[in-house]
Amino acid sequence: MSKININMAERVRNLPPYLFATIDRMKREALSKGVDLIDLSIGDPDIPTPKNIVNRMKEAAQNPQNHRYPSYEGLLSFRIAIADWYKKRFNVILNPEIEVLSLIGSKEGICHIPLAFVNPGDTVLVPSPCYPVYPIGTLFAGGNSYFLPLTKENNFLPDLKSIPDDIAKRSRLLFINYPNNPTSAVADRNFYEEVIEFALRHNIIVCHDAAYSEIYYDDYRPMSFLETPGAKDVGIEFHSLSKTYNMTGWRIGFAVGNQKVIQGLGKIKTNLDSGIFQAIQEAGIEALRSPESVTDNIRKVYQKRRDRLVKGLRDKGLDLDPPLATFYLWIRVPKGYSSSEFTTLLLKKTGILTTPGNGFGEAGEGYIRMALTVNIDRVEETLKRITGLRW
Ligand SMILES: *Cc1c(COP(=O)(O)O)cnc(C)c1O
Repeated sequence: MSKININMAERVRNLPPYLFATIDRMKREALSKGVDLIDLSIGDPDIPTPKNIVNRMKEAAQNPQNHRYPSYEGLLSFRIAIADWYKKRFNVILNPEIEVLSLIGSKEGICHIPLAFVNPGDTVLVPSPCYPVYPIGTLFAGGNSYFLPLTKENNFLPDLKSIPDDIAKRSRLLFINYPNNPTSAVADRNFYEEVIEFALRHNIIVCHDAAYSEIYYDDYRPMSFLETPGAKDVGIEFHSLSKTYNMTGWRIGFAVGNQKVIQGLGKIKTNLDSGIFQAIQEAGIEALRSPESVTDNIRKVYQKRRDRLVKGLRDKGLDLDPPLATFYLWIRVPKGYSSSEFTTLLLKKTGILTTPGNGFGEAGEGYIRMALTVNIDRVEETLKRITGLRW
């Protein structure tokens, strides 16, 4: 109850309808009926954070120096660890003083970057389907998203040539994300070269979201956008410790690349937040300096689940490509179903919860997403239940 009129600001009222609301309701219903739900809808690792990282956090939490406000741009030692990791992993040289910024999870940076570079009425180029924070951050800054459909015919890469000149002229930012959530597609050097050329031609800042760069399979190894010559002239890359080290709850990530873009995002942040708990940054240093075996073990777990689930679903006649990276399967829905209809069928008939592709944008219609974030017994159980299903 309130005695004044409490009206939401336009930016809140203009938020797109929450497409997962129906699914959330069905999920609650199923749970209240005691259904043994298998939740493949969330991109949140079920594996605990590696021990070396947790132990470093325990020690760091006891140091009173870490109890005070952290520095805005992040501990220099954390930024040096990021630069060292980039050199080792991608052979990209970064200046930790001016080309690296710590973030309270990459979502934070992604949502805030339009505030630094987008004026009301400006356009931002956003893939569809996509991580919903790109269009939401754009909306909060008063910008308009122009959606670039990711289709199977284009290997789920945006067709930059299809963007009308007048749209490109009004665009300030381009978001891209490979390995991609939700399609699990990957990008190569040719694509990144095309992106750089496009950005130079139209004066557009490129924001590459590389949250899944370390979740890869077989002999494939994703590259960094910044490995491409000229990338640093046009943009930045967002990274997260969340998926790489099973640290979604810790809230730590970073942005690297073009000094001016980093500076702009930093300016928003100094006025908005006060950095990351230093003990978490110390744990972040430990994470980035972990031996390769730490991430290898994580990848092995996902690989086993991926191999089993992809094979089982294909045997059942579902149409999907085995992902080279990310922990998602992007599955075509059978003929005659929409994304929502097939999601509903799976939930009602088998208790398996997936995400309808159109929840990530219109161009995601015709697909569902499954996350490999349940253990192998639940993967087997998933296949067992689907085997009994007809569509
Ligand atoms: C999970 C995810 C992020 C955000 O991760 P943080 O936990 O905020 O660091 C960013 N982009 C994509 C595509 C993601 O799936």
